[in-house]
Amino acid sequence: MVKADAYGLGMPRVVAALCALPGPAAPWGYGVAAVAEGEALRACGWTGPVLVAAPAPPGEFARAAEAGLTLALSDLEAVRRWAGEARRLGRPLTFHAEIDTGMGRSGFPASGSSRWGAEVARLSSGVLDWEGCFTHFHSADEPDLTATDAQWSRFVDAVARLLRRPRLVHAANSAGALRRRSYAADLVRPGIYLYGAAAGPARPRPVAAVRARLSLIRKVEPGATAGYGATYGATRRERWGTVAIGYGDGLPRALGPAGGEAIVHGRRVPIIGRVSMDVITVDLTGVAGARVGDVATLIGRDGPEEITVDEVAARCATISYEILVRLGPRLPRVYLDDERRSPANEAAPDASQ
Ligand SMILES: *Cc1c(COP(=O)(O)O)cnc(C)c1O
Repeated sequence: MVKADAYGLGMPRVVAALCALPGPAAPWGYGVAAVAEGEALRACGWTGPVLVAAPAPPGEFARAAEAGLTLALSDLEAVRRWAGEARRLGRPLTFHAEIDTGMGRSGFPASGSSRWGAEVARLSSGVLDWEGCFTHFHSADEPDLTATDAQWSRFVDAVARLLRRPRLVHAANSAGALRRRSYAADLVRPGIYLYGAAAGPARPRPVAAVRARLSLIRKVEPGATAGYGATYGATRRERWGTVAIGYGDGLPRALGPAGGEAIVHGRRVPIIGRVSMDVITVDLTGVAGARVGDVATLIGRDGPEEITVDEVAARCATISYEILVRLGPRLPRVYLDDERRSPANEAAPDASQ
């Protein structure tokens, strides 16, 4: 799944890295949520399968057809419309039928699949390639898999009642794929796991870091205040650092008051006061060696310390997905393979990835 610009990490480079995986590790295809994302994948040169996994608005069917995308269809009206596009283009178009087993946002009903299945088969006969059938789990990351097992069996029953089993049956997101072999079916749809955040109990190796530089360091007297609302006040003489990153870059505004930290010179330092649009203030009193220009790590490892995207998400009462997808365009994306290729980085290892 490379929707939302590959969860904020940059779809073209993520796709290039995944396509370079050897043999069976390379993806069968890519999943996106919007037709425009499918078009962007085509612009990257990917000619294989692209599943638009969320329902496409009627006005985008023609574009989806022209780009050779595979649509997820959830009702007969959409099947008719997609068949209309196939007739217009004079070539078969591919689709997967989604089945709603409890997510409640899209899909044919899990009950009655023999009826709607027959109708879908009739409407698509000779014009459409009904390649796949899928559902989406709502709780595969929960400790208790009872609800997921129930969704899985509703799905299996619904597929069994179709006249013919489509070639590709799939259900599992990252957590589902990692927790039960049986959920894997013909395909899995991993997202968050690829991007290095926890998927249920599985804790993959982090793949992304967020770093910024100290742009100013000052000594302050007791009583000095920091940030909008002056929510933090120095109780002693302190050394404050200004770091060039803020909520305008996707750093959650809630992070400051929630006990958020940065790592400077391998030590955790508190973010003091509220996060501004463009900067944060950190208390560097305990890190005597910190200098302007040094790197502050907001997510990632520096020496013995590591701040995971899941830690940041938990502090802000959200999920890792939201933290990643909100990383803004103002943050330059620096990729490790570029770093390795650049001779300038060999002499002075730079933590700016
Ligand atoms: C986003 C998405 C996924 C990926 O889920 P993760 O929890 O990130 O692995 C899989 N399937 C569908 C339909 C999705 O929308």
